Amino acid sequence: MDRVCAVFGGSRGIGRAVAQVMAQKGYRLAVIARNLEGARAAAGELGGDHLAFSCDVAKERDVQNTFEEMEKNLGRVNFLVNAAGINRDSLLVRTKTEDMISQLHTNLLGSMLTCKAALKTMIQQQRGSIVNVGSIIGLKGNSGQSVYSASKGGLVGFSRALAKEVARKKIRVNVVAPGFVHTDMTKDLKEEHLKKNIPLGRFGEPIDVAHAVVFLLESPYITGHVLVVDGGLQLVI
Ligand code: NDP
Repeated sequence: MDRVCAVFGGSRGIGRAVAQVMAQKGYRLAVIARNLEGARAAAGELGGDHLAFSCDVAKERDVQNTFEEMEKNLGRVNFLVNAAGINRDSLLVRTKTEDMISQLHTNLLGSMLTCKAALKTMIQQQRGSIVNVGSIIGLKGNSGQSVYSASKGGLVGFSRALAKEVARKKIRVNVVAPGFVHTDMTKDLKEEHLKKNIPLGRFGEPIDVAHAVVFLLESPYITGHVLVVDGGLQLVI
């Protein structure tokens, strides 16, 4: 199979929408999350020959095993999406060290580990496309989200550096930076209040972001780019 796409964080929210669009376009999907049942349910709804895997992106051994299993069962991964992410919002002075570590490990280290594992075969094939899901908060910062901002800002630096590192191998690395999107991650936010600041007047839907992710995955001459998908929020914050 020539077009295999691994979506980490594919069981819910943005990653799930990316998996749906990629499946509609004929790619073969690996839907990956910690909760295998959730990943299976999301892979099942894609309706074809797609597979689910359980993996904690913060654990190197898990990531290595998952890439071995994907290669065995689906073929070599040539498209990678890092949408696994968590937030533990609080003022820095109240943030527990364990919450700092879990955000950095999942949102930043996790993407480094999956990219490293994916590059092994992408470099052999001299082709590959990676999209890391950052956040507008990683570009602009936000009170109460300093650690999350750092994890997502770090992801931009990482992705741009990696884009330079692997361009000669015909591998592209890009970032999509969403604003507020309707998913489990934002379900407790005060939407009525927040959406007043969004020029387009609404939260995004996962599919809004998914189209941007797929656009970058498939754009042969774009690398090292950060595509903001935020309803215009960056214009006003
Ligand atoms: P959801 O909470 O809806 O989904 C998160 C996904 O990541 C789930 O599939 C979850 O599955 C998986 N996941 C979480 N931790 C891990 C882990 N350690 N290892 C593997 N998988 C993991 O989040 P969203 O869809 O909202 O977020 C997707 C990405 O978009 C995140 O990186 C987030 O930071 C970013 N983002 C979201 C915004 C929003 O407004 N929603 C705005 C800007 C950026 P499981 O729990 O089973 O592991």
